[in-house]
Amino acid sequence: MENNLIILGSGESGTGAAILAKQKGLNVFVSDAGKISENYKSELITNEIPFEENGHSEEIILSAIEIIKSPGIDEKNSLVKKIREKKIKIISEIEFAARYTNAQKICITGTNGKTTTTTLVTHLLKKANLNVAAAGNIGTSFARLVSQKNYDYYVLEISSFQLDDMYDFKAETAVLTNITPDHLDRYDYSIQKYVDSKFRITQNQTEKDNFIYCADDELTINNLSNHNFSSNPIPFSYSQKLAIGAYVADGEIFSTIKTNQLNPLTMLTSELALRGRHNTYNSMAAAIIGQSLDIRNETIREALMDFQNVEHRLEKVATIRGIDFINDSKATNVNSAWYALESMDKPTIWIAGGTDKGNDYTMLKEMVKEKVRIIVCLGLDNSKIHEAFGKDVDMIINTTSAQEAVHVAFKLSKSGEAVLLSPACASFDLFKNYEDRGRQFKNAVRNL
Ligand code: ADP
Repeated sequence: MENNLIILGSGESGTGAAILAKQKGLNVFVSDAGKISENYKSELITNEIPFEENGHSEEIILSAIEIIKSPGIDEKNSLVKKIREKKIKIISEIEFAARYTNAQKICITGTNGKTTTTTLVTHLLKKANLNVAAAGNIGTSFARLVSQKNYDYYVLEISSFQLDDMYDFKAETAVLTNITPDHLDRYDYSIQKYVDSKFRITQNQTEKDNFIYCADDELTINNLSNHNFSSNPIPFSYSQKLAIGAYVADGEIFSTIKTNQLNPLTMLTSELALRGRHNTYNSMAAAIIGQSLDIRNETIREALMDFQNVEHRLEKVATIRGIDFINDSKATNVNSAWYALESMDKPTIWIAGGTDKGNDYTMLKEMVKEKVRIIVCLGLDNSKIHEAFGKDVDMIINTTSAQEAVHVAFKLSKSGEAVLLSPACASFDLFKNYEDRGRQFKNAVRNL
């Protein structure tokens, strides 16, 4: 039997795609260079899907008609190069799953804020009693959901790696939260390639569809005119009044998504469940989506007010002896740490550091001078942090475990101050991943 469809990589997206493909009667074969985890393997077996692990059979793979590639597999991979040379079509799991649903797709991409915005929008649509599910980079794969149940709306978190292998897919609503340099190793260190990848979120959109973006984001604005898209642009901004779009003025959000709108949305930023300027952006994006789906303003306001933030994103852990402890372990780049510091309204003991991804700390300098009293480094090599901020704070201390960092921070802080874990770095030097880092931080705080 010929294997028309090959799936490379059997994580959540690969396994989800395999299950959907099997259900649709396709000849599918799954191939993974490493070991497939037990839960996914048993699903493949139960669904009678043939697979291989710990290596690829090139002959089988190179005879495929179409290949679904996990977003984790780099273009520089030698097998991917061979597939490209043979001109076999490679698509992402999102592209594949979209073929089998007529639901409306609300798609969120950007460097930072994807998970928060995806979760917030899903919360809003649920509150409006719409039949909705979140998928993509977050939790369950899109393909798996499509195989299980018919939803009317999907809110999809989409990374640039997934967008790179999307061609016919169309987002009825596209959100581009922002673009700052990240993952450039996968884009030949070209920021333009990374920007172009993000703008693929608008491909195939028509004038009936919406493209929601941040009018304050330099890379987005500078690239609007060199990308062709037909959709209806709706910006949001913190700093400029917009005739169409959402903006903040005097602590209040105003949102109007079409000319002569009868009922523009207004809401105080102080009422938002999510704190910080970055989260006001995310909330404005969600409000625009709500209005575009004709959800009542009252419901939108309620949803933005009672949303529970996602774990590890400016998550308030506890207040102990007047000191707030905040877990922002997901801040794995400089830009997201900037927004975390910006949102602080108390003198801050900042826990930072980890695996440096070629960080340039210049953009944090002013913010650190203004907000931070002490830096507690949590990483193996902290020399760049010492160099960057040595003159800007009272003290910089090195620690090598979450527990030690929390103890030191607690000892040095005073009532009325805040301890913020917002590392600006990846976590792999001392932790399994950012979740592990965040949980260890929270446990240490709870054990104080
Ligand atoms: P992503 O899924 O894109 O990685 P998250 O919602 O998980 O984004 O947030 C990642 C980090 O970025 C968190 O530290 C969060 O506080 C910060 N962040 C969230 N939204 C934004 C935004 N709009 N702009 C900049 N930083 C943001």
